[in-house]
Amino acid sequence: MLDILRRIVQEVNLAKNLEQALNIIVKRVKNVIDVEVCSVFLTNEKDNEYVLMATDGLNPDAVGKVRMSDDIGLVSLVGKRAEAINIADAVKNPRYQHFPEVSEEAFHGFLGVPIIHHRNVLGVLVIQSSKIQKFSEDDETFLITVAAQLAGAIVHAEASGGISGLKQRGDEKEHESKPIHGLPGAPGVAMGTAVVIYPPADIDAIPDRHILDTEKEVEVFDAAVKSVIKDITELSERLKNVLPEEDRALFDVYLLMLNSQAISGITRDRIREGNWAAGALRQTIQEHEQVFREMEDSYLRERADDVRDLGRRILMHLQEESPDKIDYPENTVLVGEDISASMLAEIPSEKLAGVISVRGSRTSHVAILARAMSISAVMGATDLPVAKIDGRTIIADGYSGRVFISPSEKVTNEFKRIIDEEAALSDELMELRDLPAKTQDGIEISLLVNSGLLSDITPSLQSGAEGIGLYRTEFPFMERQTFPSEEEQHSIYRQVLESFHPRPVTLRTLDVGGDKALPYFPIEEDNPFLGWRGIRITLDHPEIFLVQIRAMIRASIGLNNLKILLPMISDITELNDALGLIHQVYGELLEEGEKVIMPEIGVMIEVPSAVYQAGNLARRVDFLSIGTNDLTQYLLAVDRNNARVASLYDSLHPAVIRAILQVVESARVHDKPVSVCGEMAGDPIAALLLLAMGIDSLSMSVSSLPRVKWVIRNVTRDRARQILSDVLTLEDAAGIRKYLNETFEEAGMGGLVRAGN
Ligand code: PEP
Ligand code: MG
Repeated sequence: MLDILRRIVQEVNLAKNLEQALNIIVKRVKNVIDVEVCSVFLTNEKDNEYVLMATDGLNPDAVGKVRMSDDIGLVSLVGKRAEAINIADAVKNPRYQHFPEVSEEAFHGFLGVPIIHHRNVLGVLVIQSSKIQKFSEDDETFLITVAAQLAGAIVHAEASGGISGLKQRGDEKEHESKPIHGLPGAPGVAMGTAVVIYPPADIDAIPDRHILDTEKEVEVFDAAVKSVIKDITELSERLKNVLPEEDRALFDVYLLMLNSQAISGITRDRIREGNWAAGALRQTIQEHEQVFREMEDSYLRERADDVRDLGRRILMHLQEESPDKIDYPENTVLVGEDISASMLAEIPSEKLAGVISVRGSRTSHVAILARAMSISAVMGATDLPVAKIDGRTIIADGYSGRVFISPSEKVTNEFKRIIDEEAALSDELMELRDLPAKTQDGIEISLLVNSGLLSDITPSLQSGAEGIGLYRTEFPFMERQTFPSEEEQHSIYRQVLESFHPRPVTLRTLDVGGDKALPYFPIEEDNPFLGWRGIRITLDHPEIFLVQIRAMIRASIGLNNLKILLPMISDITELNDALGLIHQVYGELLEEGEKVIMPEIGVMIEVPSAVYQAGNLARRVDFLSIGTNDLTQYLLAVDRNNARVASLYDSLHPAVIRAILQVVESARVHDKPVSVCGEMAGDPIAALLLLAMGIDSLSMSVSSLPRVKWVIRNVTRDRARQILSDVLTLEDAAGIRKYLNETFEEAGMGGLVRAGN
């Protein structure tokens, strides 16, 4: 059964459009269960109805015509209850609705199951039989499993809407497709051209791309095929004395396939239709693989792997022979399955308008980087049809997480207006640059920036920040091939400290592990966020930690604006050990005659144990800094990068708010300042609560700073405290967010937290 299911899902995923996808579903399900009728109804939310979209067994002319409102018919009852209905004689059921156009009088047995995606009923999958009898339990469980698996594929096909054909850049658009819902990654709205970026040698990730010089592209393809033929012939020769004749026959099969019309010929045809060689190859390979996978004979089914292997070999040569030099258009919106921070950093920043990633969430490092670069980002857009959108006009709404592909004129105009309003708001906010973040009743709070790239320094300085509250030193570590030397680190830290002098700069010691990997220091773990990360690694490798601390302290000589921050402390012993090593370095530098002074040391509060021991920690150090990104993840047990549970990840959860309050109170006892350096600090509505709690400084991405300053300058601390006390009576994050958004709207500050003013 599993095999059948997998094959249906694969076939549906390859469908060119929704209509084809639904027709595949009804045909395959009808055959597998061996019933007389299988149909799909989809929900039309606008009119509260279910529409027959595909059928195998009923009158095909009824497709698109049979529409059932919410309160009549069995199909709508399945949708309403969101559960399966299995009845022996549908005709006798009081909910039964007769539609003469479908000619279904002859069918009695009825089984309908809902198709649900992320709690939304997308439609209903129905099978019917002429016998008066209920369907078996096996049929019911199979249909439920098919519907659950197909929901994602249907959303995907729906999102692809009218974008199945190949299009040139700027050559848009036939009919509006639905927006795709991802997660807000970085605020702002980007409208531009989608440029799909993908990992090399991954055939499924190759997008379609329109080309003009098709004959030249055919030559490129032929050259790649020729190279593969040469490779395989040589390999076969080399293995002559090692492999028996029958095993080497596989190479002959490969060579036959390579020369066949089925692989090379069809790919050439596709190139001549205007797709580039890699895209045309992807289509051919996926199609062939599918044909083999459907074969009954298990030997032939396994040949699907050979097709894929051949495809990969041709692709590698294609990529080697004509590396993909992308000509980034103005307003590039970078799109990909899993965009990394380094991919983002490669694009000329003046061309980059936004980023959309299928994986990840607001606190993934690529989103953090997008905020540092002041470009909007949508993360976790799981239903994005990546292969079909290269070169399309695309809108990324980083506030709501929506993505519009080839938007209609109406949507385009609406977003143009929003972008203009945003620009005006940003100009207005820039006027606050040199003004203090002081409430109307005179309470001042320090606004600092989070940084990690040398390229951030200039925008950070221009933002009017009072210093760097968090410098993530792992970013320079990530860009290298080996651990950076003491001198290399010294030079980076010195530049940062000098640029901001006399303002304070908080350098955090290396925080890798979790989702931050170093290419030269791979860590394989089942549970990386609960594993070897942050201070746990550096304490186990004092040779790395000591070099970093030496570089930091030396970089501050004569400037004395350094603070050191320790990440992921979950136990007092870790802090004691780290302090011991820092003092060791300090002593050694003094002995060497360096004019160093001991920097202030702080601890990040980002795991629950540190919240409960905040007092013990505060007593030993100079300041605390709350890392709400990790604190939220660990308190709520929600992976910060997992789009599937992202709706549960919210730093406004009452548990997080109470944890922060507890940390502030514990630090007060020891008279130590507390800052917040997680993304929460840059969320204007959350910043208001942090102000009310008595947080001393907020450190955020540079793009958030003007908005937060504006909020602070427009409230009194008393008003903020009153809002906090209201929030403390609320019991869930959604309620808190709603209350705060409404409060902002009422105060005329809605434009700070959503698109448009
Ligand atoms: C945090 O966890 O809140 C934080 C600031 O650190 P990072 O996002 O780098 O883990
Ligand atoms: Mg952290």
